[in-house]
Amino acid sequence: MDIRVDMKDKVAVLTGGAGVLCASMAKELAAQGAKVAVLDLRKNDAEEVAEEINLKGGTALGIGVDVLNKQSLDTAKEVILKEFRTVDILINGAGGNSPEATTGPDRSFFDLTVDAIQKVFNLNFMGTILPTQVFGKVMAEQRKGIIINISSMAAYTPLTRTIAYSAAKAAISNLTQWMAVHFNQEYSKDIRVNAIAPGFLLTEQNKYLLIDEKTGELTSRGRNIINATPMGKYGVAEDLLGIVLFLCSDSASFINGAIIPVDGAFLAYSGV
Ligand code: NAD
Repeated sequence: MDIRVDMKDKVAVLTGGAGVLCASMAKELAAQGAKVAVLDLRKNDAEEVAEEINLKGGTALGIGVDVLNKQSLDTAKEVILKEFRTVDILINGAGGNSPEATTGPDRSFFDLTVDAIQKVFNLNFMGTILPTQVFGKVMAEQRKGIIINISSMAAYTPLTRTIAYSAAKAAISNLTQWMAVHFNQEYSKDIRVNAIAPGFLLTEQNKYLLIDEKTGELTSRGRNIINATPMGKYGVAEDLLGIVLFLCSDSASFINGAIIPVDGAFLAYSGV
């Protein structure tokens, strides 16, 4: 990256850190000098991301964590505090959708199970709240910290088919504003909570909806997205790095409770 931010001695915790977007953020934060804790349900993958960072001269820990399990988050917190002594930055990246909570030709709205809807809703919503209870408490105690949540274009206007994901991401945007106010009023004026709302980035969690498995061509939904994105392309993970660094820097010291789109103007376009 051509942006330099002084991250020396900063400790960043990323949930979903083995995923496409947050692994890229973890690597960039480490390259800027932060100590990074990569938390993911996929322990081996989290360790691999951390190893890659360490091999490049950075400092990282890979830890297997379920963001829906407080005990597992508490255990991770103990390890992180022992190794890195504090937490300055929390990126709540664990999240995503699942085919079982998505309507389609083989699954009508009326067929969706409570379990499938709750799984997706909880992963995104409770999976942001619980890590913030655990790591945000460290920030409340030290009266300083930066939290970044990951919302989505689905938060502004729901996307077709992804019922629970859209609702959960709308809840994340609302929660981001709530948390920004709550942490300032109850704990410190030096805690900031913002969210990034990525547009469409082709990653594992959405590939099945956007690329035809057999032909490798864009699905009709994939083509609709490109047509609805004035910049005419999908984003890539690297497109989020600039805003992450900015939000983690002192240059963003008066930005709090904001939800920032990174979307190639998808949100700005009415379709007409
Ligand atoms: P991804 O699937 O590559 O990454 C998500 C990661 O979360 C995975 O590594 C997964 O193992 C982990 N995870 C899942 N359940 C977990 C749990 N219970 N505990 C801990 N970790 C868990 O997806 P991504 O595209 O990198 O998405 C990252 C975030 O960005 C998600 O919140 C997603 O909803 C959001 N987002 C993505 C896009 C996009 O276009 N890719 C757009 C908007 C928002």
